[in-house]
Amino acid sequence: MTNQLVPPRLTATQDLEALLDAAVDAIIVIDHSSHILTFNHAAERLFGYAQEQVLGQDISMLMPAPYKAAHAGYVDAYLNTGHARIIGIGREISARRRDGSVFPAALSVGKIGDANPPRFVGFIHDISARKAAEESLRQSESLLRNAQSIAQLGNYEYVYPDGVISWSDEMYHLLGLPKASGPLHIKELGQRFVHADDTAHFDRICTHAYTTFDRFDFEFRIHRYDGAVRYIHSQGTVHPHPAGAHVTGTLHDITDRKLAEDELRIGQERLTHVARLSTMGEMAAGLAHEINQPLTAIATYAQAAVRLMDSPDGADPVDLRDALLQIVAQSLRAGEVIRRLRGFVKTRAANSERLEINRLIEDIRILAGSDARVNDIRLILDLDPRAPGVAGDPIQLQQVLLNLIRNAIDATCECPGALRELTVTTRPLGDGVEVAVIDHAGGIPESVAQHLFNPFFTTKETGTGLGLAISRSIITAHRGKLGYRPTPGGGTSFFFTLPQLVGV
Ligand code: ADP
Repeated sequence: MTNQLVPPRLTATQDLEALLDAAVDAIIVIDHSSHILTFNHAAERLFGYAQEQVLGQDISMLMPAPYKAAHAGYVDAYLNTGHARIIGIGREISARRRDGSVFPAALSVGKIGDANPPRFVGFIHDISARKAAEESLRQSESLLRNAQSIAQLGNYEYVYPDGVISWSDEMYHLLGLPKASGPLHIKELGQRFVHADDTAHFDRICTHAYTTFDRFDFEFRIHRYDGAVRYIHSQGTVHPHPAGAHVTGTLHDITDRKLAEDELRIGQERLTHVARLSTMGEMAAGLAHEINQPLTAIATYAQAAVRLMDSPDGADPVDLRDALLQIVAQSLRAGEVIRRLRGFVKTRAANSERLEINRLIEDIRILAGSDARVNDIRLILDLDPRAPGVAGDPIQLQQVLLNLIRNAIDATCECPGALRELTVTTRPLGDGVEVAVIDHAGGIPESVAQHLFNPFFTTKETGTGLGLAISRSIITAHRGKLGYRPTPGGGTSFFFTLPQLVGV
């Protein structure tokens, strides 16, 4: 090829030379057999060849493989038929640099005058930057489409009342509408897709936004093309437009979120229901425990009364009277438990009230004191007058106190030689109050401590093991804490805290 006859270089005037040199685009002239006759400076820069290296060479050296064959075909076809497939039209091609790298280029070709044999001039413009920009735009559009598809978010642009400017792909997907149907006008969207129950809401918000040029942000349901009901969140902005209003907005399918919220709500309701049931179960067991004691006492005194009456000497009226009075007292006690329970249920329904904790403790002194006295135990109240007001349910809190006092009495009775004294104290804390019931009994062994608050855990023959479990749940519901610590010198101090009533 290199030995081929090289046609003389195109004779050019100095003007033409200057023109070629100044051109920004590569300009290459070839003859009818594709040999390069002219190669300007821009071409040298673009392809990385010096002029001498390419003159007389076949133009295909500047083309990557698949184009070489095609090029030869074009030139032959033109020479044979006179039919130009490229001349005067221009096309995008791939070109090859000296270092082998390939780049996209815009090529326009012209035929030079009446030269015989014919010559062709090609203008080559590097379009790498434009292609890269197009590619990056394509990629970001594809990313956006993906993101919209993942987020189930479609966007649109309308001119209200008459036109649709654009709909993103996800809009069709959201509505389950074939893309071929094209975007729907806003009115049609409302009529065909919006759920019958939400149409009025939809129309009202759209009309308001489109006529006042206000932002909109609302939710509605649609019937998708396939009949499925979906929840949609719609947001957008409206601007004045010569034809009415220019609306840009998004539709977001929030069905999954809505369903998850519903499930969460149902789950919470179930949980609350279970919690209520278990509280009721605990309450019932606690009630049985509390009523059992006076009933046992009543039975015992009644048996004693019967024995007295059956005695051969006849009943001593004083003893009989005592037994009957005890029966009366114990039935009143059982009645009191029921009364408290009813109060408990009532108060649970109402809101908690403002309480003076010291007063509350004073109020149970009689009840707790008689229990202590019967067991030969001294009950001491050591109440700090600085104890702040608290908010709570008085019946529930008294129930807790009575439980703790009864446990302290039981523990003292079980511990021969213990100091038969128990003290109820109040003490202000930084942000509330602490109430403690202090005994001097045997303390709590490690084996018991582990299970102390477990429902039904008891070391007593007639115990239910519910007192501490219920007490703790009541104190927790009051945003306080129930715990215990050893009493210095022996015994146990159960205590609970209650937060201070704010703003009183
Ligand atoms: P019950 O009194 O029916 O047994 P509780 O839940 O009130 O149920 O108490 C559980 C257990 O905790 C008691 O059986 C007892 O062993 C232990 N306990 C509670 N209070 C004290 C105390 N002040 N001293 C020692 N042990 C206690």
